[in-house]
Amino acid sequence: MVTAVRTLDEGAWVNVNNTRIVGVSDIWPLVDHDVCDCDTALFLVEVFTDIGVDGPWVEARAAGQCIGCGERGATGWLRIGRADGDEFRSIDYEGGQRPSNARFSD
Ligand SMILES: [Zn+2]
Repeated sequence: MVTAVRTLDEGAWVNVNNTRIVGVSDIWPLVDHDVCDCDTALFLVEVFTDIGVDGPWVEARAAGQCIGCGERGATGWLRIGRADGDEFRSIDYEGGQRPSNARFSD
């Protein structure tokens, strides 16, 4: 079970159960988003503004910039991973399955 989620270093990291699972400077391809007019925003994460837990899901909101068009903005709640027993698994969406989803670049 996820027992603790928080951000570290003023929003530079998302920390789940004392493990840093995702940091800023990742680029998230986002679909169905409000960041800009791109069908798929290439969203450069600059800061995590909120983090929360919804059942097994760990969700976060982030602010940053679409590197495709230059628009700045903030995401809604994005599922960034889920607890699977004692393990935490990061999301690796192929895109398009659900609103406001994210998948992580390699
Ligand atoms: Zn864009």
